[in-house]
Amino acid sequence: MRKPSEKLAAAEIVVSRVRSSIESGELRSGDRLPAERELARRLGVSRPSVRSGLKSLAAMGVVQIRQGAGTFITAGPPTLGSEPLSFLAALHGFTRAQMFEARHVLEVTVAGIAAERAKQSPERVIAISDETTGMFASLEDPDRFLDHDIRFHRAVAAVADNPILSSLVEMVSALFRELRQGTIRRARDLRQAADEHLAIYQAIRAHDPERSRRAMSDHLQRAQKSQAQEESAPTDPRNAEPSVQPATLAAQGSAR
Ligand SMILES: [Zn+2]
Repeated sequence: MRKPSEKLAAAEIVVSRVRSSIESGELRSGDRLPAERELARRLGVSRPSVRSGLKSLAAMGVVQIRQGAGTFITAGPPTLGSEPLSFLAALHGFTRAQMFEARHVLEVTVAGIAAERAKQSPERVIAISDETTGMFASLEDPDRFLDHDIRFHRAVAAVADNPILSSLVEMVSALFRELRQGTIRRARDLRQAADEHLAIYQAIRAHDPERSRRAMSDHLQRAQKSQAQEESAPTDPRNAEPSVQPATLAAQGSAR
């Protein structure tokens, strides 16, 4: 994993200070931020770091940089959509292993709660079933499969009936989608993945928290392995162009 440079770390200070000032109410919509030189002095970072931090905040939609007029806090609270999140992922260098660890911690518990509360919302349990069916119907269409996969996990969280957990699942799902989108077309085990989801659904429907947690845990562990395999697989087996994957090069090197 690539270590964030010091400049990035300093830029993070700018990002987090501006954020906390917004959260504390010190900065409000439409407010102008101090000039670059002043910000650098107050935060104890360099001017390029201030610029880089402000650019980040602009990309997140938190501030607006108006040429010649200064930098302003935009209207409305900063929201965590997939855009800012992917930006944060880039800024902090989130790894696939960290993403799966977070999913595991969160979603195994959520699956158990969903099984406990399934009786209270049978219509939401049907939504889980619909997404499972959708996966089996799109084994030949990886992009559609991924959509159903994301919606499946959202549906499980909906049955758990805790909006905070739902929004956390939503966040890690957005990261998962981002990391998986580039590799899903190389997936070779979509039927296996669909079966794993079916097992989770059946455990929730049976109101069996223990089985539900185990099924989710198995699924996430297998998903992590599959994704690692997809990343080292050639782009598309049907038009086998020469691969420049590091793994391939290493294998050729050792064969000689
Ligand atoms: Zn899944």
